[in-house]
Amino acid sequence: MEIRFQSAHTGNYRASARERAQIAYLVIHDTAGSASAQQAAEQLAHAVFSASVHYIVDENGVWQVVRDADVAWHCGTRGTYYHPYCRNANSIGIALCSRMLDGRYAFQADAVENAVQLVRLLMECYAIPAGRVLRHYDVTQKTCPVPFVEHAAAWQAFRQRLDDAGKMDMPRPLAFPAPVGYNKGGRISGQARDGLSPCCLYGNQEEIT
Ligand SMILES: [Zn+2]
Repeated sequence: MEIRFQSAHTGNYRASARERAQIAYLVIHDTAGSASAQQAAEQLAHAVFSASVHYIVDENGVWQVVRDADVAWHCGTRGTYYHPYCRNANSIGIALCSRMLDGRYAFQADAVENAVQLVRLLMECYAIPAGRVLRHYDVTQKTCPVPFVEHAAAWQAFRQRLDDAGKMDMPRPLAFPAPVGYNKGGRISGQARDGLSPCCLYGNQEEIT
């Protein structure tokens, strides 16, 4: 799966140096809008929202806008947390682009398919079981992602596909790669190792500016 990268504006996330073991949850969101993943990535790159996710998924593919090692601002709240452990600091945020359909936000099937692939990849990278793949709603009770909150059966079907992946692949602990960094071109300076997916190096995609 191709993951394209365009960094979000630095005002939309917190630069960090998280290691693999610090990433314990995957949190699913929707964009609540009609923008494509590329359009959403461009918006996050050029304007300050004090909010972000790591990945944006639509029917055409995946854009990464915050590196996994950095902290995206996607599930924080000044109110009450309804999950005891999941926070921005220990999670990766994934937004699915939703489309307005008959007056309601809906996910296109291909976007869900791409999200399943991405989530499975991240589950493997970080040894995250399906039980730690959450909706934003599960963390703060915000109605997000709308199609998976309004239709619990759709969320259960999504989760079921992750459980199936888990039975095939989990657990498979992987060694954390040597410290790596990006050069000016945005390309990772470390070398991928056998068994490590590209995302385990926080993406080795060419940065698009
Ligand atoms: Zn959300």
